[in-house]
Amino acid sequence: AGFEQFGFKENLLRGIHEAGFKVPSPIQVEAIPLVLGGHDLIAQAQTGTGKTAAFGLPIIQNLKNDGSIEALIITPTRELAVQISDEIFKLGRNCRTKTVSVYGGQAIRRQVELLEKAPQVIIATPGRLLDHLRNDRLKNFNPTTIVLDESDEMLDMGFLDDIEEIFTYLPASRQTLLFSATMPAPIKNLAQKILHNPKMVKV
Ligand code: AMP
Repeated sequence: AGFEQFGFKENLLRGIHEAGFKVPSPIQVEAIPLVLGGHDLIAQAQTGTGKTAAFGLPIIQNLKNDGSIEALIITPTRELAVQISDEIFKLGRNCRTKTVSVYGGQAIRRQVELLEKAPQVIIATPGRLLDHLRNDRLKNFNPTTIVLDESDEMLDMGFLDDIEEIFTYLPASRQTLLFSATMPAPIKNLAQKILHNPKMVKV
């Protein structure tokens, strides 16, 4: 079965088709219905499995376009942030999905200008995101879907404290999706703190 099985809107199906995706990958088959169902999720999946679309497609499907930042994706590196942003832009172009990536090393003022263009989805590395949050630079920031991408990588890079602090700025009523290739104890602990009754998916 193709991507029709998920009940995606027509404009999104068109983007999927134009991206050349024909059949959903195993992580997509398992994760997409759970995310669309509003569940929190722990997904154990490596890069190359199609995990970006597994969280990206339901995010695009659920955007209300209410002028706020509706989804936040946290990822360890600038390269990954740009990759995720490109993938979501590609899949969501017919839905007018606006993304902004936020990472260290780029001028703060330039980033603030981009953030003022009312993106629906922000893809961010932890340190720079926290800097924006502490300094109250994010307007209309009410992300109800949060993704932690490559969580074990963020642990290895020493971002766990930043991530815990980031969550103090996020709405209590939210959907949280944790992706990780491996599940070391600190990631399990983090999951216990920030997820509510998560479903588990492993590929
Ligand atoms: P990811 O694991 O998210 O980094 O995705 C790896 C690559 O596979 C990316 O280039 C995606 O655009 C592509 N991809 C993801 N899902 C599918 C699919 N269902 N069919 C074809 N290509 C896909």
